Amino acid sequence: MEEKLSGIVLGGISFSENDKILNVFTLEKGVISAKIKGVKKAGAKLKFASEPFCFAEFIFSNKGNMRTVIGASLIDSFYPVREDIIKYFCAGTVLEFIKKFYKESIVSTETFLLTVKTLEKIAYGEYNPKSALISFLVTALNLAGYALDESGRCVCKKPIVGKVFFDYRRGAFFCQNCFDGVGREINYSTYDALQKASAGELVDSANGVDNALKLLEYYLQNKAEEKLNSLTELIKICG
Ligand SMILES: [Zn+2]
Repeated sequence: MEEKLSGIVLGGISFSENDKILNVFTLEKGVISAKIKGVKKAGAKLKFASEPFCFAEFIFSNKGNMRTVIGASLIDSFYPVREDIIKYFCAGTVLEFIKKFYKESIVSTETFLLTVKTLEKIAYGEYNPKSALISFLVTALNLAGYALDESGRCVCKKPIVGKVFFDYRRGAFFCQNCFDGVGREINYSTYDALQKASAGELVDSANGVDNALKLLEYYLQNKAEEKLNSLTELIKICG
């Protein structure tokens, strides 16, 4: 039986001398694994389809429980992510997030489209790829059930000015008047960068962006109990 699915390669592991087992996030079936044959040989026709970030329309043959890639037509390779280390780790964080939060066969059209849009922004976007990553993480965390309130308001419904407090357990931000002692104070620029980046607005503070990524890493580790190695690397590079 043949099956045609649109998907993005998340990664792969070697399997026998020339083959690989790929992890592919598909629009129609969620994350699937599939064998791809002969791709480690020089000049292999389907080599491109075994590389991480490859977005293609795949044709699989489906026998028993195992899919094998028998054809692929490239939609986008997001090539610029391979030429810039910041873009590379931003895009890598996106793929790692999907691997960690979407176990096999969980279908989410919204997350799939968000992933494509984010990889486009990181690869070809005009402004800071880290802002695109912040926006992705906030939205994707919400979709995965770890809502982070990025409304720009405190629980009292007023915009926060002055001191900002954050509690990862509730995923919420508080003003000085509402803060109940559970959580910690964060820099206003961190909070501001998080709001602006999630809204797709330009963020002028580079420091704010880096600190917003640190806050998201902290939130991922403490609330969702997941560590994304690419995000840790990215934060390390940015000092
Ligand atoms: Zn308040």
